[in-house]
Amino acid sequence: MTVETLPARYRIASRAAETHDTVTLGLEPVDQPIGPHLPGQFTMLYAFGVGEVPISISGPAGPGLVQTIRSVGAVTQALCEADPGQVIGVRGPYGTDWGVADAAGRDLVVVAGGIGLAPLRGALLAALAARDMYRRVVVLIGARSPDELVFAGELEAWRAGGADVLVTVDRATAGWTGHVGVVTQLIGRAQLDPAAALVLVCGPEVMMRLTARALCEHGLPPGNIRVSLERNMRCGTAECGHCQLGPLLLCRDGPVVSYTRAAPLLSVQEL
Ligand SMILES: Cc1cc2nc3c(=O)[nH]c(=O)nc-3n(C[C@H](O)[C@H](O)[C@H](O)COP(=O)(O)OP(=O)(O)OC[C@H]3O[C@@H](n4cnc5c(N)ncnc54)[C@H](O)[C@@H]3O)c2cc1C
Repeated sequence: MTVETLPARYRIASRAAETHDTVTLGLEPVDQPIGPHLPGQFTMLYAFGVGEVPISISGPAGPGLVQTIRSVGAVTQALCEADPGQVIGVRGPYGTDWGVADAAGRDLVVVAGGIGLAPLRGALLAALAARDMYRRVVVLIGARSPDELVFAGELEAWRAGGADVLVTVDRATAGWTGHVGVVTQLIGRAQLDPAAALVLVCGPEVMMRLTARALCEHGLPPGNIRVSLERNMRCGTAECGHCQLGPLLLCRDGPVVSYTRAAPLLSVQEL
């Protein structure tokens, strides 16, 4: 193991429940921090004695890290249940970033499905911090139900910061007065300018495939659509091959990939 692949120790400084199975952790370095990161990149988080998983950075640049984790198995459960003060290991940052500044002078559009909003949150915060650089900042969010909406407490602040935020849920619950339906239905309502939009998409693979197709039907060139692809990752440094998808090693060539490159690969199942 080379020095760069050794985990740095980070202490959990804060823990906020987003939904019944998802938490956002604030992490502070115990010793030397990992290098600077860009929105869309990920780290390998190590719950000591349990295992290591790739998790996107959901917060802005800074010495600390903000990461949002959904409990789906042994490692993510251990991370979600970790208490403030507990120390975990962090490697990275790894992978490609969203390239938010490429939308300068144009419209930045983010389309999120479920926990897919976490990898996009850093891009959105970066755009809102430099709001004058962009014509429009548009956020389209789909969640299974109102209870499954992550960062629900931040939507008004994003609107106040100059973003057009539209939300839809697959299933409404009592008290929900918003849109009901899949996230692709928001594309028509957002009145996007196909000639001037850079669209960042993250969510379950089927959602990204259908969203990218719908965007193309609205006239978006595939080269102006970027998706974040997930495959099982182990090393994070393009050595082990676990995350291979066609010609790509996604820990190095992804997770953020142009839809031009991703389209033929999106139907390839993980073995
Ligand atoms: C680049 C990247 C960024 C990610 N960012 C986040 C994030 O910000 N927040 C978050 O909650 N999760 C994120 N994930 C997914 C996360 O890594 C997996 O949920 C985790 O590895 C599951 O490990 P486990 O030991 O808890 O569960 P396991 O027992 O390993 O798996 C539980 C279930 O999750 C599925 N699964 C395992 N790994 C993945 C994966 N990589 N992608 C999709 N499904 C998987 C398994 O097939 C199984 O159904 C990201 C994955 C990648 C590759």
